Amino acid sequence: MKNNETPTSLIIIFGATGDLAKRKLFPSLYKLYEKGRLTDRFAVIGVARRSISNDEFQESIQESVKSAAGKEEHVQEFASHFYYHSHDVTDSDSYSALKKLASELDDHYGLNGNRIFYLAMAPEFFGTIALHLKKDGLTEVDGFKRLVIEKPFGHDLDSAKELNNQIRTAFQEDEIYRIDHYLGKAMVQNIEVIRFANAIFEPLWNNRYISNIQVTSSEILGVEERGRYYEKSGALRDMVQNHMLQMVSLLAMEPPIKLNTKEIRSEKVRVLRALRPIEGEDVHNFFVRGQYGEGEINGEHLRGYRQEPMVEEDSNTETFVAGKLLIDNFRWAGVPIYIRTGKRMGTKSTKIVIQFKDIPMNLYYQTEKTLNPNLLVIHIQPEEGITLHLNAKKAGENMDATPVKLNFSNKESDGINTPEAYEKLLYDCMRGDATNFTHWDEVALSWSFTDKISAVWEKTKENFPNYPSGTTGPKKADELLEKDGFFWWPITDLEVTNC
Ligand code: NAP
Repeated sequence: MKNNETPTSLIIIFGATGDLAKRKLFPSLYKLYEKGRLTDRFAVIGVARRSISNDEFQESIQESVKSAAGKEEHVQEFASHFYYHSHDVTDSDSYSALKKLASELDDHYGLNGNRIFYLAMAPEFFGTIALHLKKDGLTEVDGFKRLVIEKPFGHDLDSAKELNNQIRTAFQEDEIYRIDHYLGKAMVQNIEVIRFANAIFEPLWNNRYISNIQVTSSEILGVEERGRYYEKSGALRDMVQNHMLQMVSLLAMEPPIKLNTKEIRSEKVRVLRALRPIEGEDVHNFFVRGQYGEGEINGEHLRGYRQEPMVEEDSNTETFVAGKLLIDNFRWAGVPIYIRTGKRMGTKSTKIVIQFKDIPMNLYYQTEKTLNPNLLVIHIQPEEGITLHLNAKKAGENMDATPVKLNFSNKESDGINTPEAYEKLLYDCMRGDATNFTHWDEVALSWSFTDKISAVWEKTKENFPNYPSGTTGPKKADELLEKDGFFWWPITDLEVTNC
């Protein structure tokens, strides 16, 4: 499989026997290989503590890519590029053996000294690994060196700064690829194209024509086996600090002067700088937290969050957040951006609704004697597409208006599933395109925004649980919009399939 575009590289995956590696990284690398986007000159070293042979590791690779696989012989060929190195990352002595193996593979495959270090492990190890990579000479290479790092990037601003200082001893900012897998999603990347490639939207994309924006990311799943992690995180740190604020910055940024990493990131940073800080008493007026109780989804009775494994019986951790954001700049002054995210909700859906202002005078009548506002709905997942809600003439003699929906679905247009976020992000990293990764300035500004909210929530206990599993969240989340004369557009009415 030949491709001149992607440079050769050695990819060292720390945590290669873990869930992320098996479910996401290996299948994504395989898809790139099968599409010819990965040159034959690549090698992967898998690092983890357990003692397994190269053969066993290669078998596990074949197993994990099976469902993504096309031809059997490609799978074997692909897996033959994988090597296993048993190594405890806290053990200083074993880095020299890793360095030796890396140099041998570099020579064997002709990798030009290009190295990608992928940290698919618990964040408490990130600093130690980065320090050792430098100290033991693994980052002394002739080619490029890149560090890919998973969320969470710290727990608050202070811990994020500490982690950043540790990894910056071995890598420059432009060598650090902080993953936010939402940025790899096809429709999140499409926000930019919808806005900047269409003459009809950009002139309306401001406070003169938009009344409010609603960003929802809801999950049916509960906390599952991640109770220990989630108890320390909660929805604010797990979803708002990263994915939700990233989507908001893409929606609200100014057109960049060029579509390159530096310009796009600097426009996103400007949005986060203009985000009005919510602190003190205001937190209660602008943000709502929730925690799921027992309930029913698809006929199945489900336990509440406090009954989940490794969760405290009186846990004060939020599994739901709704908030009102305001961006204090000329374009957005006065336009509320509502965000909401939660676990154990009735629907799995990530959607953005842009609600346009009403026309100055209504000449037409519908059953409810009002015209529906125009909506632009961006379906991020599981559906991928765009729907534009308009008003048109009702069929028949009279001139009554009726709502119609213009619909574009990614799946229908391509006839294939769009590539997984990880596939795109790995490909970008190999080519050195950091646009869809988070810059330190974005991380820092996002933490400083959410830290002010955490500070208030940590001091006060909420009356949890306050929403049953299978619902749309606590009542207060609806009141947040009602106070402003709005309501959450019901997710199920917006589905592409309902068009
Ligand atoms: P996991 O299943 O617990 O895997 C952890 C990996 O680290 C295993 O390979 C484990 O192998 C290895 N490991 C643990 N301690 C080690 C040590 N001292 N030295 C060397 N290797 C060690 O975790 P995961 O779900 O894959 O998640 C990895 C990271 O990705 C976490 O930061 C997580 O927050 C993030 N993440 C995961 C997902 C996901 O879908 N899973 C999604 C987003 C972000 P041994 O036990 O053999 O050492």
